[in-house]
Amino acid sequence: MKCLECHQDLARLDNGHLADCCGLTLQEYAIRHHLPLDILIDQDRLNLQESVNHYPRVATSDNPLARAYLTGLSLAGKVCRAPGLSFIEGDVKRLELLLWCLQGLEAFGFKYRQEYFYADHSHRVIARNRLKTRSDNVEFLQDHIDLDAPNLLDTLAVLVAFNGELHTNYLFIPLADTEICASLLQKMHQQYRVTFKSLEACARSQGALMRTETERDTREFLSLIKDRLASMPGCEARFYLDGPRATVVKELLFDSAHFITDYPGKCSNLHGGRYSIKVKVADRIDPATGFVLDYGYLKAVVEQLIISQLDHQSLNYVGAELAWRSSTELLSIFIWEQLIEYLPGLTELQIHETARSYCRYTGPSLAEFQIQGPSPLLTHFKAPELGRSPLRVKFIESSG
Ligand SMILES: [Zn+2]
Repeated sequence: MKCLECHQDLARLDNGHLADCCGLTLQEYAIRHHLPLDILIDQDRLNLQESVNHYPRVATSDNPLARAYLTGLSLAGKVCRAPGLSFIEGDVKRLELLLWCLQGLEAFGFKYRQEYFYADHSHRVIARNRLKTRSDNVEFLQDHIDLDAPNLLDTLAVLVAFNGELHTNYLFIPLADTEICASLLQKMHQQYRVTFKSLEACARSQGALMRTETERDTREFLSLIKDRLASMPGCEARFYLDGPRATVVKELLFDSAHFITDYPGKCSNLHGGRYSIKVKVADRIDPATGFVLDYGYLKAVVEQLIISQLDHQSLNYVGAELAWRSSTELLSIFIWEQLIEYLPGLTELQIHETARSYCRYTGPSLAEFQIQGPSPLLTHFKAPELGRSPLRVKFIESSG
């Protein structure tokens, strides 16, 4: 096989050769030369089980910084503990970040491995980039995570580097463990005066999802960890710099019935139909993920917050907001006000009531919504002052 980097003829191309020749891993070489891994990886290198004996047993390390990094990775759900060997998995696009972590984690006996598996479900060879160590070297992680430990900012910086996503000036951080979320939010508020909130319909597999409450919280928090993130490969571009933008759109369907009050036509009758909702989010493309937003997240948020609430319901009875008039216009506002917390890059909703009748709506930004609150168009029948005007005397008199 000829190495496409140095043009040498080789009996077999492996990471040993590539390390000397160009410094790429086999996976990066495969991507650079757009080759399937299947033709680069021989059978004997697939699905290997490594022995614990390849890893040194280290005395519980007295290295608070390494401990802080490992805690951050654990909060991020990146530490996979198994009998024998444990590992931390990273993305190929963020290989430098993984290797940066390794500098500290060598204190716990970690070594870098690129491992190759035949993935039955995708019918191809896939690679995994892992930092691995003996499980008994990281036994202490099984205890509860100590948020009072020194170097908490180092822990948080690593958590952000691996799991953080910046969406329209709000920082989103998925957490592996729901239990730790409340105490972490409290700690951030007390110690750093930065407010995060937990988004309940978290939608991302398991665990919790937290988001900075306001744009100011994002600025404050990112400035607190700026020096740390600046030292981590790729993080400055993700959290402090601009980049190309795009709009992603997800369309979902639901079936509902409704009627229109005080309307001189057929729509005053209860009738049903299939609605289509197109949710558009405009934002910067995250250089680490190549996405504006994961479509899976977008779909799950709309399903959990909106579709589950409206599908196979009479829209007029879903809430007081829609009870008087469940028009596409008011429905748009109703949906916008629920989605904006989860999708601060929301730029437009398009709701089709029929194939040929639809409404396009752009509502307030999350920052504006936080100041203005819900639209008075939706709250008229909920407002406490309704029924308190002096004219209601007439109503009371007439009602005898
Ligand atoms: Zn070469």
